[in-house]
Amino acid sequence: MTAVHNLPAQVPACWGVDPELFFGPADSAEGQPLFSWERQALRVCASCPLQAACLAEALKFPRDEQYGVIGGMTAGQRQMLLRTSRRQPSRSSATDTARNRRWLMQAAVRLHQAGHGPREIAGRLHVGERRVQRWLAAHRAEGVA
Ligand code: SF4
Repeated sequence: MTAVHNLPAQVPACWGVDPELFFGPADSAEGQPLFSWERQALRVCASCPLQAACLAEALKFPRDEQYGVIGGMTAGQRQMLLRTSRRQPSRSSATDTARNRRWLMQAAVRLHQAGHGPREIAGRLHVGERRVQRWLAAHRAEGVA
């Protein structure tokens, strides 16, 4: 029997899936209906144990270098997340749309579930640390409600 030492502790859900599923002929634009290939790819990501870390890596790239479905978000969703978080660095949420806030909160929760602390999450999402703490507290409260 061959010992397998190099397999990661957690296997990504896209392991062995055709990469073309995640990169279609065109990405849906921000806020527009998703293409069917994007919905299929999102279903794969939804069961992935590495989704938060994968999303965090994807968000390191600039908006104009976002393509395909990565980390449980389409390119358009990641672009909107990056645009919103960078334009409104830490304070007023008055001009946030409800959808943008939801994506930011979801990203913060995923990063937290992957073991990142509020300060690091705030840095990655370009929002204030207190805001992240509020989101995480709200998520915990939802979990016990
Ligand atoms: S979250 Fe990332 S690693 Fe996981 S299935 Fe999606 S693209 Fe693959």
